[in-house]
Amino acid sequence: MKLFVLLLISVIPTMIAAQSSLFLRTAAERSRLSAHRFESEVCNVNKDPIAARVFRDYGSIFVTSESVLVPSKCVFDGPVTTTEFQSRMKLSGQRIANADITLQSEAMKALNVALQEASERQLRITPLDGSIAGLRSYEDTVKLWNSRFYRALDHWQRRGRISKEDADAARDLTAYEQVPLVLKWEERGIWFSTGFSRSILTSVAAPGTSQHLSGLAFDVVEYRDSRIRAILNKHGWFQTVASDERHFTYLGNDENELPARGLKPVIRGGYKYWIPAI
Ligand SMILES: [Zn+2]
Repeated sequence: MKLFVLLLISVIPTMIAAQSSLFLRTAAERSRLSAHRFESEVCNVNKDPIAARVFRDYGSIFVTSESVLVPSKCVFDGPVTTTEFQSRMKLSGQRIANADITLQSEAMKALNVALQEASERQLRITPLDGSIAGLRSYEDTVKLWNSRFYRALDHWQRRGRISKEDADAARDLTAYEQVPLVLKWEERGIWFSTGFSRSILTSVAAPGTSQHLSGLAFDVVEYRDSRIRAILNKHGWFQTVASDERHFTYLGNDENELPARGLKPVIRGGYKYWIPAI
């Protein structure tokens, strides 16, 4: 009995810490769920290490403005669940520069005001890499994942760090199943990024986890220009994925309101990212 009480006492503080994180509470509120149901139905941060990582690295989207739809999962397991979620979004399509961009309507509206303001100041805001700068399908995220995954797998197999049997077995898995395997390899320094020197997740989102699936992300060519960043920030678009400087997320709030939603600013390489304060 004493041991049980002791165990309980040692567990309670961490549970309370998780429950009382302002970010988690705001994310649950935004999804109209209790913190407990949010964890079991949307993002199982305590049991699923990939969900936990997605929540920490790309989670800002879960506290976005009330005017848009938040993702129903932090990891979509395939095209069916993704399409079901996307079919509930109110979308707007528009040609920007030379690309057809689709976003959730309110996010597009805010982007348009930013585009207008940029053009009045003789500046440009251009989508990076065509249409995938905006809304993406599950298949788009798999394609991007594959572009890193297979190259790195071949590379490490050639170097003898991954056996032929293990590599062949990995090729037979779905992209969703490949993610935990890659993260295991990366724990041993077998990196899957483009240069084989960092985590694959620093160069591409795991399939089914990209903020682009939610129509609330937009990749910008001119991200280096502080005037462009200021215009985007003014209209609710912020950098939220630390080290992905081209990527802007529609949060739809004024910058000074973001801390009250459980976000904190971090500076990396001269850029300011609004990330979950967890
Ligand atoms: Zn992006």
